Amino acid sequence: QHRSPVTVIGLGPMGVALAESLLNHGHAVTIWNRTAQKGDDLITKGAHRAATVAEAVSRSPVTIVCLKDYATMHAILNSVVDAMTGRALVNLNSGTPTEAHAAARWTAEHDVDYLDGAIMVPPPLIGEADSVFLYSGSQDVFDRHRATLASLGDPRHLGSDPGLAVLHNAALLDLMYATMNGFLHATALVGSAGVPAVDFGELAVKWFMPTVVNESLIEQASELDQGDYPGDFGTMEMNANALEHITRTSVEQGVHSDQPRLMQQIAERAIAEGYSGRNYLAVFEIFKKPTH
Ligand code: NDP
Repeated sequence: QHRSPVTVIGLGPMGVALAESLLNHGHAVTIWNRTAQKGDDLITKGAHRAATVAEAVSRSPVTIVCLKDYATMHAILNSVVDAMTGRALVNLNSGTPTEAHAAARWTAEHDVDYLDGAIMVPPPLIGEADSVFLYSGSQDVFDRHRATLASLGDPRHLGSDPGLAVLHNAALLDLMYATMNGFLHATALVGSAGVPAVDFGELAVKWFMPTVVNESLIEQASELDQGDYPGDFGTMEMNANALEHITRTSVEQGVHSDQPRLMQQIAERAIAEGYSGRNYLAVFEIFKKPTH
């Protein structure tokens, strides 16, 4: 099977992993990085080092950029964008939907095919068949380069709005950090009485977390879509009370209390907005609006 040549710009830990995976899958790989020596290992594995960015983008029908952010991508590519006309640019660095939209407009002005993407796994998992990569932008561009993208992981196209990939990335990381902080704060709370993290981890992760984070969230998601929050089994009032107890326990035990206090304040705002008799999911109505 013919493998498309690919150019990789940006050789941080992630860019190196991307280039290596492409080489392993039989692609001819051209690399460029501000600090050239970060590509030395890739050269011994068969990559070609371009002397300039213009040469780099000219050597392949597809250029993948994996830099620190969008500003860095523009600093590197703005002056060579015309050399990419008729070729594809796949941007895998993280950022915001507004930055993704601006990048899509900029490439369209120069007739460059554009896909925005986000990588949902760390460098060691690049190249695994089930490592999820999120993409957004033209379905046609995605379809044409799907085989190449599959050399990096499992490519998923979310829709034609180019901002969707980084938006999903932010949302999933939001979920990750909230979950991690929940576990870390809870561990600090029992730690205040000398309970070792490994003992609490057993109870929290093996028993309690699966009762909360499971398929029932998907059933609850339909209640979110409907905006229906029956309070038959527990009200916002009850939940705000529980959050107040967590905050006060944190203060009493001498551990950090900002995180439970913030959750308590959000529940209190839901009460102030009329959801006191609804269930906890009604906090979703508060999250859909800007902070005031
Ligand atoms: P970094 O985010 O640290 O990006 C490093 C790259 O950006 C290097 O190529 C570096 O060049 C380049 N760079 C930074 N500033 C400049 C500049 N002013 N001019 C030119 N080049 C510059 O490393 P990663 O590889 O870890 O991440 C790249 C992207 O991948 C990020 O957007 C990140 O969010 C995303 N990602 C990373 C994951 C990870 O676990 N590492 C996981 C999922 C996504 P130089 O080598 O010369 O410094």
